[in-house]
Amino acid sequence: MVIERDIIVVGGGPSGMASAWACAKLGAKVLLIERYGFLGGMATNGLVGSILGHYLNEREPAVGGFLKFLIEKTNKFGGCEKWDTAYKKGGIPFDSEILKISCEKLLLEEKVEILYHSFVCSSIVENGEIKEIEVVNKSGKMKIKGKIFIDATGDADIAYLSGFKCVKGRFFDGKTQALGCIFKIAGIDEDKITKRIVEEAKEKLRKLREKGELKIYNEELGGKGSTIRKGERSFNVLRYSGDGTDVFDLTYGEIFLRDQIYKYWKFLKENVTGFENSYISCLPTNIGARETRQIKGLYTLTEQDIIEGKKTEDSIGRGTYWIDIHCPLGRTKDNVHLCTKECSTKEYCIALEKFRDYLPTKRKLGPLENDYFSIPYKCLIPEGSKNLIVVGRCISAEHKAMASIRVMATCMAIGHAGGIAGYISLDKDVPIDKIDVKKIQKILKEQEGYY
Ligand SMILES: Cc1cc2nc3c(=O)[nH]c(=O)nc-3n(C[C@H](O)[C@H](O)[C@H](O)COP(=O)(O)OP(=O)(O)OC[C@H]3O[C@@H](n4cnc5c(N)ncnc54)[C@H](O)[C@@H]3O)c2cc1C
Repeated sequence: MVIERDIIVVGGGPSGMASAWACAKLGAKVLLIERYGFLGGMATNGLVGSILGHYLNEREPAVGGFLKFLIEKTNKFGGCEKWDTAYKKGGIPFDSEILKISCEKLLLEEKVEILYHSFVCSSIVENGEIKEIEVVNKSGKMKIKGKIFIDATGDADIAYLSGFKCVKGRFFDGKTQALGCIFKIAGIDEDKITKRIVEEAKEKLRKLREKGELKIYNEELGGKGSTIRKGERSFNVLRYSGDGTDVFDLTYGEIFLRDQIYKYWKFLKENVTGFENSYISCLPTNIGARETRQIKGLYTLTEQDIIEGKKTEDSIGRGTYWIDIHCPLGRTKDNVHLCTKECSTKEYCIALEKFRDYLPTKRKLGPLENDYFSIPYKCLIPEGSKNLIVVGRCISAEHKAMASIRVMATCMAIGHAGGIAGYISLDKDVPIDKIDVKKIQKILKEQEGYY
């Protein structure tokens, strides 16, 4: 079977949804391919929340556009608060199950065509131009032809399968940030959980962590992230060192982390007042990869760009989030929270021993308060690509820089601009690397985005 459309977006996560929405809104025929049977990416399949990266100050968000429309739609379905108040907070919590409904409605309203349960497995390229990709699904194999392709897989799968240069992790050992796993516990009696109970629970958890019995990197008792329901909390406390593009690491990681979730919940249920009647209400569809491949693009975002709050002429989005690197070795003991020069691990660490100068410093991890850095359009274009645009966390960025742009609001901003670029390239018949970025910026503004 062969399907042919103007623009093919692969991946229905924060960035891919934004791309498909933006170019469909402008009138392009868009096909969005997603391997699961629902949209949302890590926000739904990984239970990741809250949404981060949109906050600039109380007067103006750093990210609007698709994010704003998504929040407004999700609010209508009862899945989060209103945009007018939500953007003024550091994080936007939401209900991950409602989000599956609201984002699908939002895209269908713009006439985005969706193909679920389809995994892209190969690509045919001639002289830098993707001619077709292939998906595998229950119907068999399908060829998908398009004029423009947008890679929103998080892992740069399309760029990689097409032979465009990709890199992974730290320059000295290729290690990426630790994998993670978010889950939800419900049936919590919130009224019983006093400050004293929290402190006592944290003390017990700290001991289990130090003994290595629980692979938790913090002792927080969860919160409102991918849930807003009373008596339910989402927990982001686990780590597993592995490569998110290696199927064996993914498999062992899933097994290991599910076992950890069970142990962690059992501990809370048996030891912490308020959790007596609790139950695991939701496990993620898949383990979460914080970092995998980055494309080698026409420009590579650096740590310096972020901490200086660098602005560029070809800006297509604004980043504000800090450089948040979860220990690539997956360490959780010795209070190893962030990978920085100041890390207090007592165990041997090659980065601290031989590459300490490379590590970021805790004292300066992001732009100044009220400031932002530009995301240059060139970061979305793989070297040598004629019709592939890459969006989301896998754009061209150094290991340290990607640790900032990987959050969901920023990925949506990148996706939004990538979709507009795809439309312009198609409409004006101009190669993706020759687009006048002012035209992207003009449409972004019309669609309530920022750059
Ligand atoms: C443990 C953890 C905690 C995090 N915490 C936060 C947080 O609190 N707040 C925050 O804002 N961000 C957080 N993040 C980061 C954030 O979730 C991701 O970086 C972000 O979702 C990336 O968006 P994306 O669109 O690039 O990719 P994704 O969200 O990964 O979406 C990619 C989509 O593409 C699909 N796909 C992939 N490959 C293929 C293929 N070959 N064929 C078809 N479909 C494919 C996937 O199923 C998925 O739907 C966290 C990440 C992790 C792992």
